Amino acid sequence: MSLLVVGSVAFDALESPYGKVDRALGGAATYFAVAASFFTPVNLVGIVGEDFTEEDAEIFRGRRIDTAGLERAAGKTFFWAGRYSENLNERVTLATELNVFAEFKPRLPENYRSAKYIFLANIAPDLQRDVLQQVNGKPKLAALDTMNYWIERSNAELRETLKHVDILMINDSETRQLSNEHNLLRAAKHIFKMGPSTLVVKRGECGAMLVDKRGVFCVPAFPLEEPHDPTGAGDSFAGGFMGHLAACGNKSDASLRRAMVYGSVLGSFAVEKFGLDRLRHLKRGEIYARARHFAKLTQFKL
Ligand code: AMP
Repeated sequence: MSLLVVGSVAFDALESPYGKVDRALGGAATYFAVAASFFTPVNLVGIVGEDFTEEDAEIFRGRRIDTAGLERAAGKTFFWAGRYSENLNERVTLATELNVFAEFKPRLPENYRSAKYIFLANIAPDLQRDVLQQVNGKPKLAALDTMNYWIERSNAELRETLKHVDILMINDSETRQLSNEHNLLRAAKHIFKMGPSTLVVKRGECGAMLVDKRGVFCVPAFPLEEPHDPTGAGDSFAGGFMGHLAACGNKSDASLRRAMVYGSVLGSFAVEKFGLDRLRHLKRGEIYARARHFAKLTQFKL
């Protein structure tokens, strides 16, 4: 079952205690599409500028990623710069330049409109809604990511978009900011009133938590000795999570739990190297081996 994603394709400038790059290919939709394509075909909707080269586009080739929905426009590609703290747990945004995204009007190619699995990656909430409205019929599963930038600048638009999605997938500080609740379980109750029936909270090295009406499920983050760059970990998590659900075609409790593990697996690979360097060379076998490792990590007898 193919999976539709809309979001940023970007150039990132990244600084962590492990190094610095001035122009790494990134963007939420890029990380998501690469991660999800290990599980299922992906249709990508986004925009790039004239500075996006054939070499940059190589990341999508040889994978199950359809880029007919990736528009090219006059101007520069979205640019984001961030710096991580010593322990990699905090980051500051140094620059967000929307560039071609400022005027972006997503237009879904005809064959994307029957999408049943949709991921609205972190972009302006009215663009996310615009994409949902172009899909024919009701999708089986629509999930959305956002960030402080949109929670602060486009709160009303975000709330309107949230009415139309099933899963909200954000990090812990965004969960607190959006709900005005410190406690994540109480925050989930607030968020359920906004529209989504499932909340997935990404918690960095503390793992991830899924809350729905059936209860709570938690997975740890894979313990790594040398994480290098957390950029894109959340989007890669989302790619593993949604990719698995689209591939298995149902949203049973068991599938959601496995999706949480595949999300954590892809997120853990993303942080091992700078930018997309680790995902670029990842093999399916490594994904399944690490998923088995997760099972061992969390298995115990009572
Ligand atoms: P993550 O580390 O999972 O939060 O995602 C990082 C990616 O999100 C980077 O590659 C950025 O290019 C992209 N990004 C950062 N800020 C924004 C924004 N305001 N809108 C869309 N994408 C963004």
